[in-house]
Amino acid sequence: MNTVVRSNPLVPGQPDFAVVGGGLCGRLIAWLLAGEGHRVALYERGDAAGTQSAAWVAAAMLAPLAEAASAELLITELGAASLERWPQLIAKLPLPVFFQRNGTLVVWHAGDRAEAPLFERRLRANAPPALFRDGFVKLSGEQVAVAEPSLGTRFPQGWLLPNEGQLDNRQVLTALAAGLAERNVDLHWNTTIDAMPEARFVIDCRGLGGKPSWPALRGIRGEVARVHAPGIGLTRPVRLLHPRYPLYIAPKENDLYVIGATEVEGEDMSPVTVRSALELLSAAFAVHPGFGEARILELNSQCRPTLPDHRPAIVWDGARTLRVNGLYRHGYMIAPEVAETARELAEALIGGAISNPDSFDDWRQNARWSALLRCEHAAPVL
Ligand SMILES: Cc1cc2nc3c(=O)[nH]c(=O)nc-3n(C[C@H](O)[C@H](O)[C@H](O)COP(=O)(O)OP(=O)(O)OC[C@H]3O[C@@H](n4cnc5c(N)ncnc54)[C@H](O)[C@@H]3O)c2cc1C
Repeated sequence: MNTVVRSNPLVPGQPDFAVVGGGLCGRLIAWLLAGEGHRVALYERGDAAGTQSAAWVAAAMLAPLAEAASAELLITELGAASLERWPQLIAKLPLPVFFQRNGTLVVWHAGDRAEAPLFERRLRANAPPALFRDGFVKLSGEQVAVAEPSLGTRFPQGWLLPNEGQLDNRQVLTALAAGLAERNVDLHWNTTIDAMPEARFVIDCRGLGGKPSWPALRGIRGEVARVHAPGIGLTRPVRLLHPRYPLYIAPKENDLYVIGATEVEGEDMSPVTVRSALELLSAAFAVHPGFGEARILELNSQCRPTLPDHRPAIVWDGARTLRVNGLYRHGYMIAPEVAETARELAEALIGGAISNPDSFDDWRQNARWSALLRCEHAAPVL
């Protein structure tokens, strides 16, 4: 049953923080704040598994260097710092989470070789120099076969980005739900919020559901396939450079592969189109014909919450609301640093270190990720 909370009743013993939206960001921020001893309530319109979130559909690749092909320096720096933080976070969760740091392999078919120098130039331009210098290895066809034996010598060249990672998105969501319960967060699953809950501060992490408060927020549709393919044995995510169907294949545990993802402007949450399914599955088949025998477990779509500059933002309204949004296609890759920054700001607010726009500006100047932080008084609350 889905409860709708409409009023703001004054409840004795109200929480320090009410987090609205329990996808990736909301769960992480609530869990961090509860870990600091705050009383936290979390409201999520979907279930504890997280099935209503973009985070549920994501491939959860942690690939700051590969993403530099389309992301700016700020995002790749956030991604590199977050990649270091994930293992520490996971170690504190009460359930296991598949986390791998075995690199990304980038390949292309001979006919698409014109894509390769373009991709390399973008990585050089957008990634922190050290990330590129220490994390970009050119491979011959034979070396590709050594790095990923199941691919054999199908590809004439490739690149290994040895420092990249990935994790299991659904295991993270489940482990965070368990971690929230363990830290005594007041959990309200299946609860849609349309008025501000009672709390000293509200943290709005509704993703695309936050559009009423973010007029410029938009969705970018992504479609993925999940397949079971025993016997292929890829050991790390593989990216295929292609002029029309760039795709990645992310091997998770137990021969599960996430194949993704399309990028289509718009907030269409309808099922995966035939065209996209054909593109995703054909490209996977072209990487390894063994995918022809894979069993399709799921074709799924969701929309990435995206701001006009494609950056995440943490916005204080000058009163008692923080909004965290715009994680776009990099939510898993950057969430640890974004959530940690939101936690620090939330604690500065509740502790009184920030009480007005001037003290916010002072605090912001010393924040590591100051580019994410804004104070916008005029923003509507919920
Ligand atoms: C196809 C696809 C592939 C992706 N692949 C990757 C990847 O490989 N690597 C990576 O780093 N990122 C990836 N992402 C991006 C990542 O999933 C998002 O950036 C991330 O999920 C955003 O987190 P969020 O918490 O802001 O939003 P969400 O995860 O969408 O969570 C928002 C939550 O708010 C809830 N909510 C909304 N409105 C209300 C309301 N009124 N009341 C209560 N609850 C509400 C929703 O139910 C939802 O659970 C991918 C995304 C997609 C769609």
